[in-house]
Amino acid sequence: MKTPSIYDTLTRSLQPLSPADGETFRFYCCGPTVYGPAHVGNFRTFIIQDVLRRVIEGAGIATKHVRNITDVDDKTIRESQTEGKSLKEFTTYWLDRFHTDCQALNLLTPHVEPSAVAHIPSQIRMIEQLIAKGHAYAAEDGSVYYRVSSFDSYGKLSNLQGREITTCAHGHGHTDDEYDRESASDFALWKAHKPEDGPNAWPSPWGDGRPGWHMECSAMSIEYLGETFDLHGGGVDLIFPHHENEIAQSEAATGKPFARIWFHSAHLMVEGQKMSKSLGNLYTLDDIRERGYDAMALRYVMVSGNYRQPLNFTWDSLKAGQSALRRLRQFDHDLMRLAGSATGDADNAWGPFEAVYDALAENLNTPDALGRLFKAVHDLERRLHTNDLAPEEASRVRAQLHRTMDLFGFTLESEPVEAPEEVRQLAQQRWDAKTARDFARADELRAKVSELGWTIRDAKDGFELVRN
Ligand code: AMP
Ligand code: ZN
Repeated sequence: MKTPSIYDTLTRSLQPLSPADGETFRFYCCGPTVYGPAHVGNFRTFIIQDVLRRVIEGAGIATKHVRNITDVDDKTIRESQTEGKSLKEFTTYWLDRFHTDCQALNLLTPHVEPSAVAHIPSQIRMIEQLIAKGHAYAAEDGSVYYRVSSFDSYGKLSNLQGREITTCAHGHGHTDDEYDRESASDFALWKAHKPEDGPNAWPSPWGDGRPGWHMECSAMSIEYLGETFDLHGGGVDLIFPHHENEIAQSEAATGKPFARIWFHSAHLMVEGQKMSKSLGNLYTLDDIRERGYDAMALRYVMVSGNYRQPLNFTWDSLKAGQSALRRLRQFDHDLMRLAGSATGDADNAWGPFEAVYDALAENLNTPDALGRLFKAVHDLERRLHTNDLAPEEASRVRAQLHRTMDLFGFTLESEPVEAPEEVRQLAQQRWDAKTARDFARADELRAKVSELGWTIRDAKDGFELVRN
């Protein structure tokens, strides 16, 4: 089987997704900030990461997947206070909601889901290491900053240098009260307690405060995956400064390379702008459902575009996703009926869907993979409807279809496809008319059935009803 590969932001080249230790592919993805419902833009990133994991596992490689929970930062603190709740109560509520959405979207559960608040001691230890090595310094107010000039290769991930770094850093959430930094590009590892933080502070060697956002990902990825691990992922907005800073912190502290491969997916857009809470142009999974689309249709939309290209979110694309899934479900159902009690050889091959796996293995080309999937389905449907598929083969193809669906993370639980009584009666009358050679009446009845949303498919000695 072809070894999967992916585009690496750091080396700007395709890299094989094989585990460095020859056993387990260890990877870390930046998780949600739990201060409101995740929007479907966030889920684009999580779904793409999920498909990546499925493809690696589909290639027979074990994985260890870590995805953190950001449960302390400016936003979680601010919003919990606005609602008059403790940080814990507030973030637990949104974390539960996130998990419910993940389940509906059939996202595989990460092997470890560490929370920033639960890992403050390991973050403090790492900051101490950085201070001891001259890469960080404590300011008078009890905040600690990373000394960017101490890390020669700063900027290697985002390709930014000198002046650009300073300009960009200013645009990324540094506040004016961070006046005691040595340089404008230095960033906070530990933030001293401020009155607006309320009771949200933890003791440290520098006084009460809380960790800076970048620190949690360095500390927790190393804690669960080791100093050097296989891959680190997130949306493209995280390349700078978040991931650049994670590299600087981690490599300076350990003296070893951090993640080997950097995997970034492009944004979900709405009318040319990134879907984001601050722009107020977001949709949640519940909004999607209210319009009559299910979570699988959303997953379909997310994989219908290439992960390196921005994807425009439209209701039409959801509609198309829903009907593509309906066709797959119908095909699965047809195979099941044909297979009956027959069992084909249950092997581990992809069978007619080999080309689908190949497209996914080649830099996660999901749109190409979907094209190949439907080509294979089309060919098989034709054989199925011309009685050119034996029950044993149908059974085998069905198992292979299910394996292929697992790569995309599509669930095919056949929704009951039983037509309503009225439709079944009309179809029966049409069958009777046809066997009596009253073709005009048969056509009339077929049209009526079609108007009610069903298609009659004739088999050798009977008929079947499928949704239009
Ligand atoms: P956050 O909850 O803001 O920390 O973001 C969680 C993940 O969603 C990160 O990997 C972000 O890069 C990603 N993300 C945020 N907005 C979008 C978007 N519009 N499209 C795709 N991914 C996004
Ligand atoms: Zn992170």
